[in-house]
Amino acid sequence: MNPLSPHRPITALDQDESLFRDTVRHFAEKEIAPLVRRMDEEQRFDAALIRRLFDLGLMGIPIPPEHNGGGGTFFDSILAVETISAVDPAVGVLVDVQNTLAAAALLRWATQEQKARYLPRLATETIGAYALSEAGSGSDAFALQTLAEPSGGGYVLNGRKLWITNAREAGLFIVFATIDPEAGYKGITAFLVDRDTPGFTVGRKEDKLGIRASSTCELILDNCVLEAGQVLGEPGLGYKIAIETLNEGRIGIGAQMLGLAEGAWAHAAKYARERKQFGKPLVEFQAMQFQLAEMATDIEAARLMVYNAARLKDAGMPFRKEAAMCKYFASQVAERVASLAVEVLGGVGFVRDYPVEKLYRDAKIGKIYEGTSFMQLAAIAKTALGL
Ligand SMILES: Cc1cc2nc3c(=O)[nH]c(=O)nc-3n(C[C@H](O)[C@H](O)[C@H](O)COP(=O)(O)OP(=O)(O)OC[C@H]3O[C@@H](n4cnc5c(N)ncnc54)[C@H](O)[C@@H]3O)c2cc1C
Repeated sequence: MNPLSPHRPITALDQDESLFRDTVRHFAEKEIAPLVRRMDEEQRFDAALIRRLFDLGLMGIPIPPEHNGGGGTFFDSILAVETISAVDPAVGVLVDVQNTLAAAALLRWATQEQKARYLPRLATETIGAYALSEAGSGSDAFALQTLAEPSGGGYVLNGRKLWITNAREAGLFIVFATIDPEAGYKGITAFLVDRDTPGFTVGRKEDKLGIRASSTCELILDNCVLEAGQVLGEPGLGYKIAIETLNEGRIGIGAQMLGLAEGAWAHAAKYARERKQFGKPLVEFQAMQFQLAEMATDIEAARLMVYNAARLKDAGMPFRKEAAMCKYFASQVAERVASLAVEVLGGVGFVRDYPVEKLYRDAKIGKIYEGTSFMQLAAIAKTALGL
């Protein structure tokens, strides 16, 4: 493709993007694929794989080179999440949270001092986590109860967070707490919490349906003392940081679900070519071709939506509605395509020796985290109807 063409199709990749995607794909197929089943069964990532993700620059894609990162675009992060999720959506969400939530929040809101302290670590060795949800506040995120009481020039945090992705492995947590419960959402403040901070503990890990290698844990804050310099952004600005980071993050989940659907489709198409019934390969039956064609059409639509939302974000244009739409739609496509892929494989689609069973389980989370499908529809309606 001519990179200078004013008529660049949304899904066309320029040379750098194409090279990056191919490198990530090669890595995912050669180095992640052999580990997927064991990591799913053991419910943990292979430690050497995490090291490889850092060494390949996949954990610091948008972090500028002066902080040891890759200096990539938001679209590059999306490409990485999509490509990895085609092989393992659990590794996809590790890379997604690191780049589109943790690094993105710091790049946008951190002071120069905080950036110098944390970004080189995030790019090279430290996993980040994003802690907003609590037992009583999920969709209604700003009903959170974790309290940050001002004390001695800093804050003392008390409360519990629930469902925190990457928590078992993370070294840095962006924790949302309120400095004034009476102030409602205007009291919400974001804090940068190092894992070894006294009073901070990672609690119980959830035993999940899908993305089982990805850790999802409770966080316990018990008189956790933080300095004023640990506030991200400004006191009371946490609601804005949460909303705006999640707006971007949703495109990442759209990419995770897109990749998952692509992976499921590839397994289904391969099997349909190889498996013979009634004397010929399944792919020669029109009913099979039409199912695969419908799945491919769904995937193309999801890809257009995810890529467009990401490119809008990189162009500095409004993308809130498109981000919610692409997550909403791609999570439907992932569920539909993974389900059909199980059927295309017949009996072997239902067992663990073949990868589509796992992709089917992994697909469900797309409709739940970073805002359920109902919350996406609410966001879309608000923008589309000007409410
Ligand atoms: C695997 C996993 C990883 C996660 N990772 C993180 C993370 O890293 N950080 C983090 O902060 N959180 C994380 N979460 C939490 C996740 O974002 C929440 O689970 C999600 O926002 C939904 O909240 P909830 O579970 O409390 O469900 P609820 O909010 O209780 O929703 C239950 C149901 O009610 C519906 N509902 C709620 N309100 C309305 C309404 N007004 N109108 C119509 N329907 C409504 C919802 O759509 C849903 O169907 C994770 C969750 C999971 C399962």
